[in-house]
Amino acid sequence: MKVSATQGRTPCLVCGAQAVETTNDPVTVEFRDGSYVVEGFEYDRCSACGEEYYAAGQVDAIHAQAADQARVERGLLFPDDIVRLRLDLGLTQTALDGALGASPGTTGRWERGTVIQPAVADRLMRLLWSHPELVTEVVQPVARESRGPYRPRR
Ligand SMILES: [Zn+2]
Repeated sequence: MKVSATQGRTPCLVCGAQAVETTNDPVTVEFRDGSYVVEGFEYDRCSACGEEYYAAGQVDAIHAQAADQARVERGLLFPDDIVRLRLDLGLTQTALDGALGASPGTTGRWERGTVIQPAVADRLMRLLWSHPELVTEVVQPVARESRGPYRPRR
């Protein structure tokens, strides 16, 4: 391969070859339980070693698009839906984390679209959305102690 043919290109940071080219080939994203092909992104790839170079924010955008495909396939709520139902229920992200028994920051990651909610959390959120009167049952579980079978007998 003649160097002159690729002169002026940025050398690959991995192999040093002046073979980094811009491409818009589909990108395959692997999740724990499935892989998804995402198209429409322009990025750089070294034709010598195959290393791919993404612009700032591109990886998140590619992952979010793959996650959207996964949501369609699995019939899960979209990030916008989660924001809407949370606001409908009058909850902060922290309160919804607590209601679902999720660790802090979980709802925020679902709402940004970088993480896909598990099916069980998806169904619980849908239940709360259609039966908002149940929210107090999960947001303030302590209240149960003074009600129903937990009420102290006098
Ligand atoms: Zn390379």
